Amino acid sequence: MSALLQVEGLTKHFPVRRGILRRIVGHVQAVTDVSFAVAAGETLAIVGESGCGKSTTGRALLRLIEPSAGSIRMEGTELTTLSPARMRQMRRQMQIIFQDPYGSLNPRMTVREVLSEPLLLHGVATPATLQAKVAEVLGLCGLSSFHAERYPHEFSGGQRQRVGIARALATRPKLIVCDEPVSALDVSVQAQIVNLLQDLQRQLGVAYVFISHDLAVVRHIATRVAVMYLGRIVEEAPAAELFAAPLHPYTRSLIAAAPRPDPAAGRAKASVEGDAPSALAPPPGCAFHPRCPVAVERCRSERPELRGIGPTRVACHLAEPATDRALPRPLDADTPLARRLAVLAAARARKQEGTAA
Ligand code: SF4
Repeated sequence: MSALLQVEGLTKHFPVRRGILRRIVGHVQAVTDVSFAVAAGETLAIVGESGCGKSTTGRALLRLIEPSAGSIRMEGTELTTLSPARMRQMRRQMQIIFQDPYGSLNPRMTVREVLSEPLLLHGVATPATLQAKVAEVLGLCGLSSFHAERYPHEFSGGQRQRVGIARALATRPKLIVCDEPVSALDVSVQAQIVNLLQDLQRQLGVAYVFISHDLAVVRHIATRVAVMYLGRIVEEAPAAELFAAPLHPYTRSLIAAAPRPDPAAGRAKASVEGDAPSALAPPPGCAFHPRCPVAVERCRSERPELRGIGPTRVACHLAEPATDRALPRPLDADTPLARRLAVLAAARARKQEGTAA
């Protein structure tokens, strides 16, 4: 696999200051020694409970948060040592979509102004071609030219996220970090946005780093999945392998716990038994050992390194090759999102058949 993005040893520790002199009394170990690669046109999902470091990882990739250590190479260019001006240029290739499209769009700017900024800044459009380029990117995202004159508050949540995607797509990046892009949306709208992201990937070949706690969405969209626990990757595998036969006890707990419909919100929430320890003082040995149902003495003192088992990388002393890849699939298709995605996929197939005929 030739990597578009290569991340090695990425670390972000936030200092904790106390007292009048604001002395550093510790570090929140948000992300520690994270390594992965993303190929052109694929989707690497990063999953885990809230506070596991997945969003910090996503933002550190674009240096919206400065890494404490590690290497990030985009098409061979080392990003961590680039000047701010060169980093701004690199953002033509790397963009981000946020969870809250409303919060990430300037309420005083029309959609045209929101999109014009990156188009002109990165030289994708000239004043003469700007109108056509704005219309083109809106069209790609399922919006019309007349939407360009509207303000963010005039859109529904789903439409606002389409504007957020259009803004990210304006410079035709090769990689987009999608930070929980559908978590704030209703299930039916989630399915439309997930399908839109997939269509855009097929059309434009863009790669995604897809950050999510929702395993139903991840299962649908991901090529590969990296599972994070307390700032570290504990398992990484092709999506099909990971969901069919997860090797790490934490991944197994995550999958077994999801989907759990939340009647109040109508959304699936993953929850693993027990509370995650503080990232200020992670447990010694394997950080998962206080919650692990199969922990042994060695787990309390010796941290397991990531090692390869088949196509999987896993950090667990007891992980063994799965003998039965046809394990029961706890994430069955009978969730509101899965049903909605199936309806949309069938409609798309019918449309394609009609076009072909
Ligand atoms: Fe559980 Fe030990 Fe594996 Fe950690 S190393 S996941 S504690 S069995």
